[in-house]
Amino acid sequence: MFNINDTIAVAVSGGKDSISMLHILAKMKTIRPKTTLIAVTIDEGINGYRDEALRIASSECSKLEVPHKTFSFKQLFGFTLDELVTRRIGKANERLTACAYCGVLRRRAMNIAAREVGANKISTAHTLDDEVQTILMNIFRGDLTRLMKGKPLTDEVHPTLVRKVKPFCEIPEKESALYAYVKKIEFQATPCPYASEALRNDFRSMINAMEERHAGIKFSVFRSIERLRLDLNQLPKHEVHGECAECGEPSSGSLCKVCELLKTLK
Ligand code: SF4
Repeated sequence: MFNINDTIAVAVSGGKDSISMLHILAKMKTIRPKTTLIAVTIDEGINGYRDEALRIASSECSKLEVPHKTFSFKQLFGFTLDELVTRRIGKANERLTACAYCGVLRRRAMNIAAREVGANKISTAHTLDDEVQTILMNIFRGDLTRLMKGKPLTDEVHPTLVRKVKPFCEIPEKESALYAYVKKIEFQATPCPYASEALRNDFRSMINAMEERHAGIKFSVFRSIERLRLDLNQLPKHEVHGECAECGEPSSGSLCKVCELLKTLK
């Protein structure tokens, strides 16, 4: 996933997984001095929730001497997530959850942030649990394109789309939490107020119940898809990456998802 002279934008939300990843990458840097780390936090603008995470992220970064930058939805898109959620009422996308908006905007924000700090990789702390949930959600939606794209090291598809790596993709969430507890790392434990709206929660409960009864099933799902991706990669690709007519960011359609969402809300 990493080359020796990478400049890595480390996505730090302030939760246990991202802070544990930051600690491990900082440790990696001590034996790879040519690697540059810059921690990036995206402030979605969630009242009473993000403030604590920002404080923790900033304090852990200064302890580890990793430069830290924050980028906000408000500054990049003109709205906080709270404002967007209020605006969706009565609009065509009313039934979209807060997480649906948040996910699309956060991916864009992270890519802009990575470019601004001069990174050639974005490292996110998606754990094995996150990966398996996403895989099953994409299978249930019949979304083969996303299933293929969600690799632990994403393909180079557009010069302005920074490649993503997921060094925790084979680490169960419980182990990442255990690492944080053993190392006495401070992290934000309060969940996001919008988390209960997420479809992901249903998949999390289902997969955890399966894992209880059939230990190792999370690893099996992950590895099966990794094998399948090798075969799917041989198929001709239909997705063409151009630029959005509105904002100029990489997009597979004439209008990118971010502009589509913001247009409806405006
Ligand atoms: Fe965003 Fe949903 Fe995560 Fe909250 S739970 S930070 S709204 S994706």
